[in-house]
Amino acid sequence: MASASLKLPVIQNWSCHNCGGCCREHLIEITEDEKRRIENQGWTQKDGIPADRPVIQKIGPKRYRLTHKDNGACVFLNEEGLCRIHAKFGEPEKPLACQVYPYAFHPRGNRIATSLRFSCPSVVRNAGTALEEQQAGLQELCDQVVSGRQTQVVPPTVHAKAQLSWKDINRFIEALDVSMQDKSVNFTVRLLRTLEWMNLVEQAQFETVKGARLQDFLQLMLEASSKAQPDNDLPVLRPSFMSRMMFRQLAAQMARHDTDQLARGGIKTRVQLLETVLRFSSGAGQVPALREPTSVVTAFGALPNKVVAFSQLENAFQGRRPEIDELFERYMRVKIQGIHFCGVACHNLSVVDGFRTLVMMYPVTMWLARWRAARRGHTEVELLDVQAALATADHNFAYSPALGTGSAKNRIRQLAKMNQIAALCGWYSL
Ligand code: SF4
Repeated sequence: MASASLKLPVIQNWSCHNCGGCCREHLIEITEDEKRRIENQGWTQKDGIPADRPVIQKIGPKRYRLTHKDNGACVFLNEEGLCRIHAKFGEPEKPLACQVYPYAFHPRGNRIATSLRFSCPSVVRNAGTALEEQQAGLQELCDQVVSGRQTQVVPPTVHAKAQLSWKDINRFIEALDVSMQDKSVNFTVRLLRTLEWMNLVEQAQFETVKGARLQDFLQLMLEASSKAQPDNDLPVLRPSFMSRMMFRQLAAQMARHDTDQLARGGIKTRVQLLETVLRFSSGAGQVPALREPTSVVTAFGALPNKVVAFSQLENAFQGRRPEIDELFERYMRVKIQGIHFCGVACHNLSVVDGFRTLVMMYPVTMWLARWRAARRGHTEVELLDVQAALATADHNFAYSPALGTGSAKNRIRQLAKMNQIAALCGWYSL
């Protein structure tokens, strides 16, 4: 079977730094073939595998996942943070999901786009080898994941009433990517400009606007939005009470961290989760204890046990630096180029709804970064706070089932209708 050619984000580097975070944070679902393969590997206590539980557990009809230990780690993770399957039998013997992380491959017409998960601290830090230099290995991995099915994937809709070909959807992707790169203005302005032209896209019919005409239309949108907001001089408007409540609910979902320990927590854990959601909705008093993923704590340091009030996070913070803009630009461009924000990769959202959902990662991450800085007793956000916040939130982006529900999708549409996405981006931009 011929390989689908792979499109790599040229702006990103990555190598594994063996932090073992993914083997603690992610619940690895495996296929029946992988289950048989692991069972045939004959793991016993002598290999360091816990004796008190099977290495694989059934989670539904014909659905299985790797078991975790009480400390949250996969049963195959050893004390040095390395995978026992990898060490004993080689990487190809691990479940495919383990081999693929932090990459994600998504069909984009006749090519496959590569995205990355920023829940991995090395991705957030852009640490490692340029992806371009890893082309051969990635192509091999991609062939296993996609396995010739790319032509069966239909393109995402542009909005509820507009279905275009992959060729035209790629024109949107390229226009969004260009819109994120205009370094003559700061990143907040770039986002607001793009939101503005996406609002116009939502109102347009595309029956006759295709091919070269669509290209001209997108070019016009880009130019008009630059003229409407030519510089960094943005009025900062306080978002409405209602939109801040909806925003905090989203922030609570993005900061959530579902692990095996939580899944086994029972009724007490569920009650605690409900209390957290209610407190985030009210936005009064103290921010409930948010537990950062182990990989984030390992990479960016543990936070002091300091109480933070919701009201503290509504004040502007210091610390706007070019490195923070660079991080967001890279994040958004990787997700856009990798078509990781709409269609099959993201809850079947249209391009417009998916882009708005992706944009909400900006105020959510900045809010979490403020919370992190406040926990350290600072009113200045550092790059490290933003990196840690992004690694936490991106764990859920496009993957958390809670964010794919009708009510979550409606929340984004409501915020857009009230013109509050732009207000939230401006308000929490620092
Ligand atoms: S099987 Fe290996 S790579 Fe996969 S989660 Fe377990 S320890 Fe990590």
